[in-house]
Amino acid sequence: MSQTAMSETYDFLFKFLVIGNAGTGKSCLLHQFIEKKFKDDSNHTIGVEFGSKIINVGGKYVKLQIWDTAGQERFRSVTRSYYRGAAGALLVYDITSRETYNALTNWLTDARMLASQNIVIILCGNKKDLDADREVTFLEASRFAQENELMFLETSALTGENVEEAFVQCARKILNKIESGIQYGDAALRQLRSPRRAQAPNAQECGC
Ligand code: GDP
Ligand code: MG
Repeated sequence: MSQTAMSETYDFLFKFLVIGNAGTGKSCLLHQFIEKKFKDDSNHTIGVEFGSKIINVGGKYVKLQIWDTAGQERFRSVTRSYYRGAAGALLVYDITSRETYNALTNWLTDARMLASQNIVIILCGNKKDLDADREVTFLEASRFAQENELMFLETSALTGENVEEAFVQCARKILNKIESGIQYGDAALRQLRSPRRAQAPNAQECGC
């Protein structure tokens, strides 16, 4: 199989969002995940609003289509269409900014209201590398995550620590939910017709 064909073969397609206050490192997390390097400020004009990557989760190929708010969050204009059909989200705060942590409840309310009921959210305490300036403890955030049924990791878009893990853990949980019968409506998920599954009588329908 050619390189191009290989890179377009996948079993599932998930829409992912990256949400949270401006300045928390959302664009850098997306960039680090896709490019495996830190996006320094000199190239911030290249406002990437969208990225995609195929990952292997327990032997299944999952294509993540990741949407970045690309600055809209500054104007509180993140729209319903941004949330529509999302299967997973990274909810990001900055461990050195309590203000960004305090905003999490609002982001969560929007995500639960505007996205699928079954959206899987992973809380990411970003800028883990700036531990000396920390304003939010790991323990406090992990309690918040537990109370709100979120997964939780501290990440660093600068060093790359836990960045891939955040996306992979979220995708794994979505796959588990699908296996237990949960359906993601809209364009949230599409099980593509790979040769193995095309003829399966009960192959999952995307409903879109
Ligand atoms: P966004 O507004 O949420 O998209 O945030 P950006 O990705 O634009 O990042 C905001 C600022 O935080 C930039 O100056 C980044 O260089 C910096 N930044 C992002 N992630 C990290 C990180 O993990 N560690 C450190 N030290 N700085 C980061
Ligand atoms: Mg950004």
